[in-house]
Amino acid sequence: MPKQAPSVYVPLDVNYMRDPRIRRAGPDAELLYLRALAYAKGGETDGFVHDYDLDVIAVGLKAIPGRVNALVREEAWEVREGGWFITGWFNWNQSVAELRDQRKRKAEGAAKTNHKRHVEEGTAYRAGCLVCIGEVAA
Ligand SMILES: [Zn+2]
Repeated sequence: MPKQAPSVYVPLDVNYMRDPRIRRAGPDAELLYLRALAYAKGGETDGFVHDYDLDVIAVGLKAIPGRVNALVREEAWEVREGGWFITGWFNWNQSVAELRDQRKRKAEGAAKTNHKRHVEEGTAYRAGCLVCIGEVAA
């Protein structure tokens, strides 16, 4: 069986359907809103919906401009140069830069742990060890 890439999740407030902006925008706009959340998370766009991706996000949906207008009217989306920004994005999501920093720190921590272990086991240098090759400070 082929190995699958790890799943990525996007936070969804369980009270989102009571959000007056979502209720006033209507269920058609709501579906576009939900798809855009998945799109922004998967594409690491920091909550941005690129206008050139709208057709892909809204595939199979009718009256797309009306849905977009409803989200903008209710301030669930904000018009920006080249697309729209999901206004609540950073209430629930860290920035891509923050996530990359965290991943980097975690990888560095793991490299230091592995380096310490192989040194303690008597191997002073190991090819492929990020500490040994100088990519991570000991
Ligand atoms: Zn090492």
